[in-house]
Amino acid sequence: MDFNDTSKESEFRSKVRSFLDQNTEKRSSSSKKVQGGAPGAPETVQGGKSAEEDALQKAKEWQRKKAEAGFAAILWPKEFGGYGGSPIEQVIYQQEEQNYFVHSGYFEIGIGMLGPTMMVWGKEEDKKRYLPKMITGEEIWCQLFSEPSAGSDLAGIRMKAEKDGDDWILNGQKVWTSGAHFSDYGMIVARSDPSALKHKGLTYFFVDMKTEGIEAKPIKQISGTANFNEVFFNNVRIPDSQRLGAEGEGWKVALTTLMNERLAVGDPPGLDFDQIFEATKEIEVEDGLAIKNSEVRQKMADWYVQSRGLQYTKYRSITALSKGQTPGPELSISKLVTASKMQDVSSYALDLMDMSGAIHNEKNPILKNLFQNGYFFSAAMRIAGGTDEVLRNIIAERVLGLPQDERPDKKLPFNELPSGKN
Ligand SMILES: Cc1cc2nc3c(=O)[nH]c(=O)nc-3n(C[C@H](O)[C@H](O)[C@H](O)COP(=O)(O)OP(=O)(O)OC[C@H]3O[C@@H](n4cnc5c(N)ncnc54)[C@H](O)[C@@H]3O)c2cc1C
Repeated sequence: MDFNDTSKESEFRSKVRSFLDQNTEKRSSSSKKVQGGAPGAPETVQGGKSAEEDALQKAKEWQRKKAEAGFAAILWPKEFGGYGGSPIEQVIYQQEEQNYFVHSGYFEIGIGMLGPTMMVWGKEEDKKRYLPKMITGEEIWCQLFSEPSAGSDLAGIRMKAEKDGDDWILNGQKVWTSGAHFSDYGMIVARSDPSALKHKGLTYFFVDMKTEGIEAKPIKQISGTANFNEVFFNNVRIPDSQRLGAEGEGWKVALTTLMNERLAVGDPPGLDFDQIFEATKEIEVEDGLAIKNSEVRQKMADWYVQSRGLQYTKYRSITALSKGQTPGPELSISKLVTASKMQDVSSYALDLMDMSGAIHNEKNPILKNLFQNGYFFSAAMRIAGGTDEVLRNIIAERVLGLPQDERPDKKLPFNELPSGKN
């Protein structure tokens, strides 16, 4: 493990800082970024439709600036407008950008997961047509994978894809699709052969979200915002040229997307010790400032220890990236601990604030919605990109070497499974 930047990394960090300093405003340490949706979803925007449109417009402007400076997609090759950088440079960019007021969540699913999938599986003309506009933010992409009965067990997908001449007809429903309501394109996995094994009868496509028969219905969340959607496909006709990978090989293509998702969500930004510690210096409890209270101090000490443990676990991933290796299951540990700690920290802060915990007041730093957003978002973070239980299974099997779950459903044709029968 090495905690310090190499000279090349430090040079890159200075370059990034100077770009950010010149083009945007820095956050104070107590207003750390907390995402408001799935990894890859926009930050929480309060204030209704016009505020959301305004935020999207600002995000697009910021994305264009980043693209002009070459920082919009650090890992992508230069031919598509990327920086041609290394995974560690990507981490450095993210570490720095989260200290500034910018909206970039809208583009993370495209740039982090779907663009890389097109790079591996797409035709040359598609890469040239779609990838540069994904980088500049001119076109936004969403990930149409989950369905009402296919989430953790993604291969349970039931969306039908039926061949009709040179076209495919898609029918069915997706759900939890972040950003579908403002996306221009989406990538979708559908079942093209129900008589094949569960993982074998799937085919992967990309779709124009304006195609006739696609309807996105935003799902209102407890925070008052609506970042994700139910998406209905009713006789949606798409050409075979929009298929990625071979017919029936969609699972392989989906694995490329999921591998990239694992890297993208492994280190989510979250509320941490620093924010709650700062807040305890301002929140008044019955016997004075919270930080003077012995119970609160005990809690702070526990979280400090947990935060440092998490930080060193993250350093392991960063060290692996710095050496050109792929981080292992420690990414699952980071996400598991970060999400539940964020929920504990924000719920504790709201309790300490008592009735004022429900108030939003821009002028008061501790009431600036930080813990309220953190509280609502942490529940989603414990589900998106791998639920707590699924991450625990990964840690059990791949870190501790415990035996795998028995999976009889892998050996039967999909339409013979209870979940595959119509
Ligand atoms: C904020 C947010 C944004 C999202 N954005 C997108 C998106 O853009 N595109 C997209 O396609 N999807 C998206 N999702 C969906 C996400 O991928 C799924 O919610 C996730 O995979 C879990 O699936 P599920 O909701 O169907 O729950 P299920 O898989 O049905 O899980 C239900 C419960 O069962 C448990 N469970 C499941 N399997 C096991 C097991 N093997 N062992 C032990 N326990 C198990 C789970 O942990 C959970 O507690 C998003 C989700 C959230 C919360």
